Amino acid sequence: MSEQTLFDKILAKEIPSDAVYEDQTVYAFRDINPQAPVHVLVIPKHKMQSFADIRQRDAAEIGAFMQGVSRVAEQLGLERDGYRVVFNTGPHGQQTVRYIHAHILGGRQLQWPPG
Ligand code: 5GP
Repeated sequence: MSEQTLFDKILAKEIPSDAVYEDQTVYAFRDINPQAPVHVLVIPKHKMQSFADIRQRDAAEIGAFMQGVSRVAEQLGLERDGYRVVFNTGPHGQQTVRYIHAHILGGRQLQWPPG
């Protein structure tokens, strides 16, 4: 059993969150400290700790997660102007919560490269 993270508790509804989408595979909620007009986090209901774990998982499960991320972006109305999907991974990636999560950022012109 891995440690219980903040996002385990959000998924279990032990900690409130501002949900934007939920289905059998994913849960999506607004980031508490948004870095863009739209900043949503998408987590798989079947836990992984980080992006580094995905190579060990079933491809269909990963595919369903990625399709969920894409679906959330569509539902947020970001398709026309575009958006960014980020998986912060490990210390250099500044991952602070050890429950894999896709950041969806949009609603403004984003810059590149990131800091
Ligand atoms: P990371 O740095 O691990 O990639 O991203 C974690 C994200 O979780 C951060 O963007 C941070 O603002 C967000 N976050 C931290 N605590 C909470 C919380 O209690 N609720 C929500 N909705 N987001 C949170």
